[in-house]
Amino acid sequence: MNPLPAAMLVRGTLLHFLADPGANDDAAAWQYIEDGALFIQDGRIRHCGPWHDVLAALPTLSRESARYFDYRGKLILPGFVDAHVHYPQLRVMGSFGRQLLDWLEHYTFPAEASFADRSVAEKTSAFFLDRLIAHGTTTASVFPTVHAHSVDAFFEAAQARNLRMLCGKVLMDRHCPENLRDTAQSAWDDSRALIARWHGKARLRYSVTPRFAPTSTEAQLKVAGELFASAPDLHLQSHLSENQRELAWVGELFPGRANYLDVYAHFGLIGPRSIYGHGIHLDAGERTRLAETGTALAFCPSSNLFLGSGFFNFHALSQTGVSISLASDVGGGNSLSTLRTMAAAYQVSQAQHHALSPWRAWYLATLGGARALALDQFIGNFTPGKEADFVVLDATAIPELAFRWDFAESVADRLFALMMLGDERCVAATHVLGNCVYLNKA
Ligand SMILES: [Zn+2]
Repeated sequence: MNPLPAAMLVRGTLLHFLADPGANDDAAAWQYIEDGALFIQDGRIRHCGPWHDVLAALPTLSRESARYFDYRGKLILPGFVDAHVHYPQLRVMGSFGRQLLDWLEHYTFPAEASFADRSVAEKTSAFFLDRLIAHGTTTASVFPTVHAHSVDAFFEAAQARNLRMLCGKVLMDRHCPENLRDTAQSAWDDSRALIARWHGKARLRYSVTPRFAPTSTEAQLKVAGELFASAPDLHLQSHLSENQRELAWVGELFPGRANYLDVYAHFGLIGPRSIYGHGIHLDAGERTRLAETGTALAFCPSSNLFLGSGFFNFHALSQTGVSISLASDVGGGNSLSTLRTMAAAYQVSQAQHHALSPWRAWYLATLGGARALALDQFIGNFTPGKEADFVVLDATAIPELAFRWDFAESVADRLFALMMLGDERCVAATHVLGNCVYLNKA
């Protein structure tokens, strides 16, 4: 682990959110400060504001002893949040021609089976986290494999990098290859041991992770519910209503339940600190139930396009009050870049005749993601006391974006151009608890 720098002063253009700007771009929801500054001490934000105001608020001694980072001309935002991503699937990103259920069988399960070898989990965890940081993402809700050591390997690598991360052993005891199956009992035993080892350690929290309803028996879903309730502040992640064939299958497997969400509700798997990937084919009753129970959704637009799953109805879900975050869903998604996820989110919404505003999109990528993961007491914006994870973006890194930027008519127009034309080349630096952990040398 890197030691925390005592104090640092960071100068650049700041953007962060205090609330959801909503459908009408409520300007009270964000702070955009052209010449801004962050003062960071012990890895936490102490001051955020205009450069001259922050300087004036600091005692001379703090100002002079602080390490200085000059990012003028660049945009500083809270680190991106990727609310649904599978680290073992890096090796099958961009694989051809399958939809969800065939995708799992042909690409995902064989890739995950290779994680029986712990060294594969260790190497992949290190590579995955280094690449996340290079994409400006500092927090993620991560699926490993069914193997308990895939969680150990991941959390060890996350702890070594001081990252705030969620992860938990995948539970699946049916409808998957024999070598990837656990049981209801081993799911309980392994998960309890992992929770004891990792939950609340450093910046890590455990997330109970049934893959999705079809790959768990009723006995195992019951265990998942008991696990979720077995310690304070545990999280839960899974998949919901991604693909039509999957939906029909869930109907056959759980004939007594009213709909897909009702399966999870029946086993105590919804509510605060739970998040489900996708949620594409939901009816109005399910949308309302998500909102009323505080169950969040991870909007995975590039994965939904890539696997031909359908269009997430951001407009209806956000109007209903569902907490929504953005997610890459790698390997269904084909990029770890939150900027590219934002562009895909815009396109998916636009295909349904609702334009996602840049303010809303940047909110989703930062504070919205932190809220959907119930981690906003730690991260998501630059209010004093929050952990100082941030990304520095440089629009001039891509020539056509730089060209377009010069013709932008407003801040909103610039932010929109950046999310539509930008990608990881725009990440100039990433800081975790103040420390600079990635510097783009390109
Ligand atoms: Zn997924």
